[in-house]
Amino acid sequence: MDVGVFGGTFDPPHVGHLVVARDALEQLDLDRIRFVPARRSPFKEGPGAAPPEARFEMLRRAVENEVDFEVSRTELDRPPPSFTVDTLRAFSAEAPDVRWTLLLGEDQWRSFGEWREPIEIGRLARIAVLTREGRDALERAPELGVPFVQVPVTRLDVSSSDLRRRLKERRSVKHLVPDAVREFIESKELYAPC
Ligand code: ATP
Repeated sequence: MDVGVFGGTFDPPHVGHLVVARDALEQLDLDRIRFVPARRSPFKEGPGAAPPEARFEMLRRAVENEVDFEVSRTELDRPPPSFTVDTLRAFSAEAPDVRWTLLLGEDQWRSFGEWREPIEIGRLARIAVLTREGRDALERAPELGVPFVQVPVTRLDVSSSDLRRRLKERRSVKHLVPDAVREFIESKELYAPC
Protein backbone atom coordinates (compact mmCIF):
# COMPACT_ATOMS: atom_id res chain seq x y z
CA MET A 1 0.00 0.00 0.00
CA ASP A 2 1.34 3.43 -1.02
CA VAL A 3 0.01 6.49 0.76
CA GLY A 4 0.74 10.13 0.01
CA VAL A 5 0.89 12.57 2.93
CA PHE A 6 -0.18 16.12 2.11
CA GLY A 7 0.29 18.65 4.89
CA GLY A 8 -0.71 22.28 5.04
CA THR A 9 -2.81 24.77 6.91
CA PHE A 10 -5.81 24.42 4.58
CA ASP A 11 -7.26 27.72 5.75
CA PRO A 12 -9.48 27.10 3.79
CA PRO A 13 -8.94 24.02 1.59
CA HIS A 14 -9.61 24.78 -2.09
CA VAL A 15 -9.79 23.20 -5.52
CA GLY A 16 -6.05 23.81 -6.08
CA HIS A 17 -5.28 21.41 -3.21
CA LEU A 18 -7.66 18.76 -4.56
CA VAL A 19 -6.33 18.99 -8.11
CA VAL A 20 -2.68 18.57 -7.05
CA ALA A 21 -3.57 15.72 -4.72
CA ARG A 22 -5.37 13.90 -7.54
CA ASP A 23 -2.46 14.56 -9.94
CA ALA A 24 0.04 13.23 -7.38
CA LEU A 25 -2.07 10.14 -6.72
CA GLU A 26 -2.16 9.33 -10.43
CA GLN A 27 1.40 10.19 -11.31
CA LEU A 28 2.96 8.40 -8.34
CA ASP A 29 0.56 5.48 -8.54
CA LEU A 30 -0.51 5.94 -4.92
CA ASP A 31 -3.44 4.14 -3.32
CA ARG A 32 -4.54 6.97 -1.06
CA ILE A 33 -3.82 10.56 -0.11
CA ARG A 34 -3.88 11.51 3.56
CA PHE A 35 -4.39 15.24 4.16
CA VAL A 36 -2.78 16.45 7.39
CA PRO A 37 -3.99 19.84 8.61
CA ALA A 38 -1.32 21.53 10.73
CA ARG A 39 -1.94 22.74 14.26
CA ARG A 40 -0.49 26.21 14.25
CA SER A 41 0.73 27.65 17.49
CA PRO A 42 -1.91 29.98 18.94
CA PHE A 43 0.22 33.11 18.38
CA LYS A 44 0.39 32.28 14.69
CA GLU A 45 -3.35 31.87 14.27
CA GLY A 46 -3.65 35.60 13.67
CA PRO A 47 -6.74 37.62 12.89
CA GLY A 48 -8.92 36.26 10.10
CA ALA A 49 -7.69 32.67 10.46
CA ALA A 50 -10.08 29.78 11.04
CA PRO A 51 -9.63 27.66 14.20
CA PRO A 52 -8.12 24.17 13.85
CA GLU A 53 -11.41 22.31 14.29
CA ALA A 54 -13.04 24.40 11.55
CA ARG A 55 -10.11 23.70 9.21
CA PHE A 56 -10.44 20.00 9.94
CA GLU A 57 -14.18 20.07 9.27
CA MET A 58 -13.70 21.97 5.99
CA LEU A 59 -11.12 19.44 4.84
CA ARG A 60 -13.36 16.54 5.85
CA ARG A 61 -16.15 18.05 3.77
CA ALA A 62 -13.77 18.76 0.85
CA VAL A 63 -12.88 15.06 0.53
CA GLU A 64 -16.17 13.45 1.60
CA ASN A 65 -16.97 12.16 -1.90
CA GLU A 66 -13.42 11.01 -2.70
CA VAL A 67 -12.92 7.39 -1.70
CA ASP A 68 -9.13 7.57 -1.87
CA PHE A 69 -8.71 10.83 0.08
CA GLU A 70 -8.72 10.95 3.88
CA VAL A 71 -7.99 13.50 6.61
CA SER A 72 -5.80 12.88 9.66
CA ARG A 73 -6.31 14.52 13.05
CA THR A 74 -2.84 13.61 14.25
CA GLU A 75 -1.32 17.12 14.29
CA LEU A 76 -4.48 18.65 15.78
CA ASP A 77 -4.46 16.20 18.67
CA ARG A 78 -0.79 16.80 19.59
CA PRO A 79 0.32 19.96 21.32
CA PRO A 80 1.89 22.47 18.89
CA PRO A 81 4.20 22.95 17.17
CA SER A 82 3.69 20.06 14.76
CA PHE A 83 6.79 18.52 13.29
CA THR A 84 6.45 16.44 10.14
CA VAL A 85 9.04 13.98 11.40
CA ASP A 86 6.83 13.16 14.42
CA THR A 87 3.78 12.78 12.20
CA LEU A 88 5.61 10.36 9.90
CA ARG A 89 6.97 8.42 12.88
CA ALA A 90 3.42 8.05 14.22
CA PHE A 91 2.07 6.95 10.83
CA SER A 92 4.88 4.40 10.32
CA ALA A 93 4.40 2.98 13.80
CA GLU A 94 0.66 2.53 13.19
CA ALA A 95 1.08 0.98 9.74
CA PRO A 96 4.62 -0.40 9.26
CA ASP A 97 3.80 -2.00 5.89
CA VAL A 98 2.70 1.21 4.20
CA ARG A 99 5.15 3.01 1.91
CA TRP A 100 4.80 6.73 2.66
CA THR A 101 5.33 9.52 0.17
CA LEU A 102 5.52 13.04 1.54
CA LEU A 103 4.07 15.53 -0.94
CA LEU A 104 5.75 18.91 -0.74
CA GLY A 105 4.93 22.09 -2.60
CA GLU A 106 7.93 23.91 -4.04
CA ASP A 107 7.55 26.51 -1.28
CA GLN A 108 7.82 23.80 1.37
CA TRP A 109 10.75 22.13 -0.41
CA ARG A 110 12.71 25.39 -0.47
CA SER A 111 12.65 25.58 3.33
CA PHE A 112 12.96 21.84 3.87
CA GLY A 113 16.58 22.09 5.04
CA GLU A 114 15.37 24.04 8.09
CA TRP A 115 12.74 21.50 9.11
CA ARG A 116 13.32 19.30 12.13
CA GLU A 117 15.30 16.15 11.20
CA PRO A 118 15.05 16.41 7.41
CA ILE A 119 17.31 13.42 6.84
CA GLU A 120 15.12 11.27 9.07
CA ILE A 121 12.05 12.50 7.15
CA GLY A 122 13.75 11.28 3.97
CA ARG A 123 14.25 7.89 5.59
CA LEU A 124 10.65 7.59 6.73
CA ALA A 125 9.10 8.68 3.45
CA ARG A 126 9.85 9.15 -0.20
CA ILE A 127 9.79 12.87 -0.90
CA ALA A 128 7.81 14.09 -3.89
CA VAL A 129 8.11 17.75 -4.83
CA LEU A 130 5.05 19.02 -6.66
CA THR A 131 6.18 21.22 -9.50
CA ARG A 132 4.15 23.34 -11.81
CA GLU A 133 3.58 21.44 -15.05
CA GLY A 134 5.92 22.56 -17.82
CA ARG A 135 8.48 23.96 -15.38
CA ASP A 136 12.11 22.94 -15.70
CA ALA A 137 13.47 20.38 -13.31
CA LEU A 138 14.31 21.69 -9.88
CA GLU A 139 17.90 22.72 -10.08
CA ARG A 140 19.05 21.51 -6.79
CA ALA A 141 17.90 20.12 -3.56
CA PRO A 142 18.52 21.86 -0.29
CA GLU A 143 22.10 21.09 0.68
CA LEU A 144 21.31 17.87 2.49
CA GLY A 145 21.38 15.40 -0.35
CA VAL A 146 17.97 14.01 0.64
CA PRO A 147 16.66 12.14 -2.41
CA PHE A 148 13.40 13.31 -3.97
CA VAL A 149 11.25 12.81 -7.01
CA GLN A 150 9.70 15.64 -8.91
CA VAL A 151 6.02 15.43 -9.89
CA PRO A 152 4.61 17.77 -12.52
CA VAL A 153 1.14 18.89 -11.40
CA THR A 154 -1.54 21.28 -12.50
CA ARG A 155 -1.33 24.40 -10.40
CA LEU A 156 -4.55 26.37 -10.43
CA ASP A 157 -4.14 30.05 -9.68
CA VAL A 158 -5.89 29.94 -6.32
CA SER A 159 -4.56 30.26 -2.78
CA SER A 160 -6.08 30.19 0.68
CA SER A 161 -4.92 33.74 1.35
CA ASP A 162 -6.67 34.92 -1.81
CA LEU A 163 -9.86 33.14 -0.69
CA ARG A 164 -9.70 34.71 2.79
CA ARG A 165 -9.36 38.11 1.16
CA ARG A 166 -12.36 37.46 -1.10
CA LEU A 167 -14.50 36.33 1.81
CA LYS A 168 -13.53 39.36 3.83
CA GLU A 169 -14.68 41.54 0.93
CA ARG A 170 -17.91 39.49 0.77
CA ARG A 171 -17.02 38.22 -2.71
CA SER A 172 -18.04 34.76 -3.86
CA VAL A 173 -15.77 31.72 -3.57
CA LYS A 174 -18.14 29.55 -5.59
CA HIS A 175 -16.25 27.05 -7.78
CA LEU A 176 -13.00 27.78 -5.92
CA VAL A 177 -13.90 25.58 -2.96
CA PRO A 178 -16.23 22.55 -2.96
CA ASP A 179 -19.87 23.48 -2.27
CA ALA A 180 -19.88 21.63 1.07
CA VAL A 181 -16.91 23.75 2.20
CA ARG A 182 -18.57 26.98 1.04
CA GLU A 183 -21.77 26.08 2.90
CA PHE A 184 -19.78 25.47 6.09
CA ILE A 185 -17.90 28.78 5.72
CA GLU A 186 -21.20 30.60 5.24
CA SER A 187 -22.99 28.88 8.11
CA LYS A 188 -20.16 29.61 10.57
CA GLU A 189 -19.41 33.03 9.09
CA LEU A 190 -15.73 32.15 8.86
CA TYR A 191 -13.43 34.82 7.42
CA ALA A 192 -16.27 37.36 7.51
CA PRO A 193 -15.47 41.03 8.16
CA CYS A 194 -15.94 42.01 11.81
P1 ATP B 1 -1.82 30.41 1.91
O1 ATP B 1 -2.30 31.20 0.73
O2 ATP B 1 -2.56 30.72 3.19
O3 ATP B 1 -0.33 30.43 2.08
P2 ATP B 1 -2.11 27.86 0.46
O4 ATP B 1 -3.25 27.97 -0.47
O5 ATP B 1 -0.72 27.90 -0.12
O6 ATP B 1 -2.24 28.89 1.68
P3 ATP B 1 -1.56 25.63 2.27
O7 ATP B 1 -2.59 25.01 3.10
O8 ATP B 1 -0.44 26.28 2.92
O9 ATP B 1 -2.41 26.56 1.27
O10 ATP B 1 -1.06 24.63 1.17
C1 ATP B 1 -0.59 23.35 1.42
C2 ATP B 1 0.23 22.96 0.22
O11 ATP B 1 -0.57 23.07 -0.97
C3 ATP B 1 1.44 23.87 -0.02
O12 ATP B 1 2.58 23.05 -0.15
C4 ATP B 1 1.20 24.56 -1.31
O13 ATP B 1 2.36 24.57 -2.13
C5 ATP B 1 0.16 23.68 -1.99
N1 ATP B 1 -0.75 24.51 -2.77
C6 ATP B 1 -1.44 25.56 -2.34
N2 ATP B 1 -2.19 26.10 -3.31
C7 ATP B 1 -1.94 25.38 -4.41
C8 ATP B 1 -2.40 25.44 -5.78
N3 ATP B 1 -3.23 26.37 -6.20
N4 ATP B 1 -1.95 24.50 -6.63
C9 ATP B 1 -1.07 23.57 -6.20
N5 ATP B 1 -0.61 23.45 -4.95
C10 ATP B 1 -1.03 24.33 -4.05
